[in-house]
Amino acid sequence: MGFADRATIIVRSGKGGDGHVSFRREKYVPNGGPDGGDGGKGGDVIVIVDDGVNTLGDYRHRRKYAAQDGEPGGKRNCRGKNGADLYLKVPYGTILREAESKKIIADMSGDRRRFVLLTGGKGGLGNQHYATATMQAPKYAKPGQAAKELTVEMELKVIADVGLVGFPNVGKSTFLSRVTNAQPKIANYHFTTLHPNLGVVDLEGAGGFVIADIPGLIEGASEGVGLGHAFLRHIERTKVLIHLVDAASTEGRDPVEDVYAINREIETYNADLMNRPQVIAANKMDVVQDEQTDPIKRLKEEFEPQGMRVFPVSAVTGQGVQELLYHVQNLLSGLSEQPIVFEQEYDPEEIPPVEGGFTVTRDDSGAFIVEGTLIEKMLGYTNLDSERGFLFFQKFLRDRGILEKLEDAGITEGDTVKMYDLQFEYYK
Ligand code: GDP
Ligand code: MG
Repeated sequence: MGFADRATIIVRSGKGGDGHVSFRREKYVPNGGPDGGDGGKGGDVIVIVDDGVNTLGDYRHRRKYAAQDGEPGGKRNCRGKNGADLYLKVPYGTILREAESKKIIADMSGDRRRFVLLTGGKGGLGNQHYATATMQAPKYAKPGQAAKELTVEMELKVIADVGLVGFPNVGKSTFLSRVTNAQPKIANYHFTTLHPNLGVVDLEGAGGFVIADIPGLIEGASEGVGLGHAFLRHIERTKVLIHLVDAASTEGRDPVEDVYAINREIETYNADLMNRPQVIAANKMDVVQDEQTDPIKRLKEEFEPQGMRVFPVSAVTGQGVQELLYHVQNLLSGLSEQPIVFEQEYDPEEIPPVEGGFTVTRDDSGAFIVEGTLIEKMLGYTNLDSERGFLFFQKFLRDRGILEKLEDAGITEGDTVKMYDLQFEYYK
């Protein structure tokens, strides 16, 4: 597809700045108290609707987006600067999904104009916070919280009240240009550069609505044949469908069969869509031959008992078109004015932070070796000589699944564990 209504990007929030370990140094004061400042907060990744943006084209050129990290704390209780938030501007109607599960994170439509996609990591506390009666010179400060990363699929869903469906060449484009050409407003409508084509229908004394030509529907569309899915998804937000058929069978198609065939594709794609009101436009009436079996009669007998009104029209001459449009307007005014907004299915708050990993192996003596950046980093900021530090260490081993992994590897009481320079015996 030529137009940019889809993009996949990787976003990352800012990491929290690390807390600082330092001690006051004053003349004549040999052992000053702890004065390590806190780290700054990492930047958030925030999505906002910008009415000046019509496509997702900007996100096709770049794949990775990151908010700024928080700065580490400093000496003399100096707090690190917060990292700047990152703003992603998207058009109204953009849906954000988690790329792997395809679950909806946020639907940027209706009242939703701003969404915090990822929150930045909290800054770590400096060692000034860890002084206690028994530990007056804590060499421990908290590291900043890790950043979060997420692959997001962005998809622009057209917001139209009415979708125009039907096989190729039944006259959808002709119909759209007829019902919208007379309206000078269309030219200004900011989606007109996009396909599927949108137009505004302006009905005297009855308001108006936005209509979208949904091209590309053919058999197999629901399985992704042709541009199937790409276009079917645009129907999801329309409230009423105008189903166009070629009543004159100019290409040998049977209009009754065609209605069933297209509806099968729509139903397979999303069964919910069949609950939307549908109106049948029996097009090309200007060339229906008298001697043909009356297609209008057949369509009416087949579909009106199923709740679908049939209107004989000609997109070329304009015959019957106004009547159809007023009927559609009537249907719409009986429906809720609320736009169809999708519910959240995936909460990015629950993403675990991006941490370094670790491995458990055994050496010749049978000792269990635990290595990796996660461990290295933790040992770097943990003072095992302090009671608080040691408690933290135990909690860390438990919370990060290190104990679990050791047990999976077959560790038993009294076995030796080695973590870099640290060596200890394992007891539950
Ligand atoms: P789409 O593929 O559904 O968008 O169909 P088009 O609008 O491109 O029309 C396909 C062909 O049918 C074109 O040659 C149109 O001129 C013709 N056509 C569309 N509507 C009518 C109509 O009401 N009467 C007649 N005679 N021809 C029509
Ligand atoms: Mg067309």
